[in-house]
Amino acid sequence: AKEAGRNQIQFYEAAMHARVNERTLIEAELRHALERGELSLHFQPKVKLLSGEMTGLEALLRWHHPTLGMVAPTRFIGVAEETGLIVPIGRWVVRAACAQCQAWQAAGLAPQRVAVNLSMRQFSDPGLVDDIIAALDDSGLKPQWLELELTESLMMHNVGAAVEVMTRLKKLGVSLSIDDFGTGYSSLAYLRLFPVDYLKIDQSFVRDMLANPNVAAIVRSIISLAHSLDFKVVAEGVETEAQLAYLRRYQCDEMQGYLFSRPQPADGIASLLGQEAAL
Ligand code: C2E
Ligand code: CA
Ligand code: CA
Ligand code: CA
Repeated sequence: AKEAGRNQIQFYEAAMHARVNERTLIEAELRHALERGELSLHFQPKVKLLSGEMTGLEALLRWHHPTLGMVAPTRFIGVAEETGLIVPIGRWVVRAACAQCQAWQAAGLAPQRVAVNLSMRQFSDPGLVDDIIAALDDSGLKPQWLELELTESLMMHNVGAAVEVMTRLKKLGVSLSIDDFGTGYSSLAYLRLFPVDYLKIDQSFVRDMLANPNVAAIVRSIISLAHSLDFKVVAEGVETEAQLAYLRRYQCDEMQGYLFSRPQPADGIASLLGQEAAL
C-alpha cells in the first residue's frame, strides 16, 4: 500500500511538471501569437428555436501555432487571463470581429449581429469602453450589430462596477449577454440590476438535462426566470434533436450548437449567409 502511495505521488508530481511545462510553453508562445498573425476567429451561428432563422454569430478565438498546431481556447484563455495578455488579444478580437461583420455587410450579405466574449481582465480594464468605441468607429460597424458576452462570475465579482460599465456599453447601442449562466453563483436579487438582453444557459445543463430530471428542472427554471426579467434565452451546446425538442417545449428562444452548425471560418459563414438570403 505504501509502494502504491509512493507511485501515486510520483505520478502526481510528473503530471504537475507536465502542467507547469505546458503552461510555460503556452505563455512564451502566446506572447508572440498576435504579432506573428497566428490568431484567427471562427464564427458559430445562433438560431431561433421555432423558425431556425439565424439571429447572430458568436466569434470564437482560434490559435494556430506552427509546431503546436491548433491550440484550443481552453488551453490558452486561462494563461492569457493570468498574464494579462488577454487585454491586447481581446482588443484584437473585438476589432477583428467588427471588421469581419462590416465586411459581410459590405459584400451585400444579410446583416447578422456578431458576439464577442469578454474576459474578467478586459471587463475591468478602464479603457474597455473607449476600445469598443474605437473598434466600431474604425470598422464603420453600427453598434447594433455588436454583442458582448459576459460571464456570470465576471458580473458578480463587483456588482456595482459591473452595472456601471454595462450601462455605459448599453448606451453605445451594443447588446449584452450573460454567458455560461448557471455555472457561477448569481444572486437572483442582483440579476434584475443588469441591463442585459440575453441569458445563455451553459452547455453542461443542456448536455445533462435529458438524463437527469434535476438538471431538466434547473433548465426550466432558468428559462422562466429569464423571461420574467425580460431576457431572451439562448441554449448553448445543442447537439441532438431530442434536446432541441425539449427546449422548444419549454419556450427557450434561441440555440447554438453542433446540431445546427459548428464554429467555422469567415468564408464558410459567408456561404451560409448567402443561403439564408436565398431562402
Ligand atoms: P463559450 O463562450 O462558452 O463558447 C462556446 C464553446 O462551446 C465554444 O468552444 C464552442 O466551440 C463550443 N460549442 C459550440 N457548440 C457546441 C456543441 O454543440 N457541443 C459542444 N460540446 N461544444 C460546443 P471553444 O471555441 O473551444 O471556446 C471555449 C471557451 O473559450 C469559450 O466558451 C470562451 O469561454 C473562451 N473563448 C473563446 N474565444 C474567446 C475570446 O475571443 N475571448 C475570450 N475572453 N474568451 C474566449
Ligand atoms: Ca460565449
Ligand atoms: Ca458560453
Ligand atoms: Ca462555456
